[in-house]
Amino acid sequence: MQDGTDVWALIVHGGAKEMEPAEEEANRAGVLQALAAGREILERGGSALDAVEASIRVLEDLPAFNAGRGSMVNEQGDIEMCAGLMDGRDLSAGAVGAIRRVRNPIGVARRLMEEKEVLLVGDGALKFARDNGLPLAGEEELRAAAEKQSLLEGAHDTVGAVALDQGGNMAAGTSTGGISGQKVGRIGDSPLPGGGLYADNHVGAVSFSGDGETIARLALASRVMASLDDGVDMEQAIAKAVAKLPGTGGAGADGGGIGIRKDGQVGWAHNSPHFVVALVTSDMAAPRAFLRKTEEA
Ligand code: ASP
Repeated sequence: MQDGTDVWALIVHGGAKEMEPAEEEANRAGVLQALAAGREILERGGSALDAVEASIRVLEDLPAFNAGRGSMVNEQGDIEMCAGLMDGRDLSAGAVGAIRRVRNPIGVARRLMEEKEVLLVGDGALKFARDNGLPLAGEEELRAAAEKQSLLEGAHDTVGAVALDQGGNMAAGTSTGGISGQKVGRIGDSPLPGGGLYADNHVGAVSFSGDGETIARLALASRVMASLDDGVDMEQAIAKAVAKLPGTGGAGADGGGIGIRKDGQVGWAHNSPHFVVALVTSDMAAPRAFLRKTEEA
């Protein structure tokens, strides 16, 4: 753990998925916009948790991503979203599952971190948002454009962010509209600590996108934590975790993950066709964005 240094790092993603060429520009611009929001907080000494929340809010507000605005519909044509946030300082976590009609699911997860409960779902999660005066949104506002819905029938997609702040604190977050056509009430890995995300200042932080049931069954985020504990580097730990997806979920099970080790080492890997990522650290001259790993070389 860095302690009171000026080292910081931020990595965000806009989903492990397959994109049409026409979507690429909006995806690349979107992750860079999200990165800028979190970076501004980290540069001025703000917390990793605030940076992760700020980055994810931007991604939720952009219709290019399946989270918040731009969400996929379930089998009944409704929007049900999931989000999770975890603070590596004290392992506090807040998450919502199958929540409807809120503008920013990540904001509800953040507010829940102040409570004892870790995860609220469905009507209970919506009631909590309402009781706390958090912004609501109509289904029309949240629903992805009709062309995107039909294009992505059965597809999945999520946004996420991971940060290390100047105080050595880490945070991770996720937000998703889930899988197009998913069952009513379905919750994937995204709100599950140890599944789709994890953050521990003494180890590192990670956030996944991909085949949610398989990520949950493998407890993928906790596998990454165990690998880091064993001395595996950040990128290898994620690559090793992602490589397990097809063996458990079948040939089509794919995904991607982003992470930062406690010493600031940043890594990401995926076995999906695309994984939209942007990253910046205190050591880098400028942010970088990629649509797939092979662009990084
Ligand atoms: N993991 C998400 C879910 O299962 C979807 C995704 O990341 O693509 O809801």
